[in-house]
Amino acid sequence: MSKYKKGRIPKNIEYIIDSNNCFICTSHTKNKQGYIKINRQGHYLMHRLILEEKLGRSIKEDYCACHLCDNPSCINPNHLEEHTKEWNNKDRTNKKRGIYLGNGGPPKRNFKAISPEGIIYYSNNQHEFAREHNLNRNNILSCLNGRLKSCNKGWRFNYE
Ligand SMILES: [Zn+2]
Repeated sequence: MSKYKKGRIPKNIEYIIDSNNCFICTSHTKNKQGYIKINRQGHYLMHRLILEEKLGRSIKEDYCACHLCDNPSCINPNHLEEHTKEWNNKDRTNKKRGIYLGNGGPPKRNFKAISPEGIIYYSNNQHEFAREHNLNRNNILSCLNGRLKSCNKGWRFNYE
């Protein structure tokens, strides 16, 4: 567990921005999984540090610093969110059904769904998503078209 302290982000970070708007860190080394390490500060992982700085607190116990972009070397704060391990697995399953753009690039995600509990899902198939979560497909379409704020079960949908 790392303890959050403000301003722990190293000053000497260099990165390149790729076509997916990922900030690929080039100034620090990666571990075997592709995550950026910061050895100087006791084996922290850069993306966790970045997310904690964004949140202004430590990442909760049993929660992950999840990459929405699936790129472990990415340190773009907008691509990082705190989620449960279950969410992370679910997210991965959802993405496997996505349309991959090739070159190991990120999957194409057509829409974002937010459950009444605030859990975020990505999908590109409204029909399949509606069936899986027992939702009304026309409601989803109306939300995506802006005719409805949320579906009859309180889910919200938008394009991303
Ligand atoms: Zn990214």
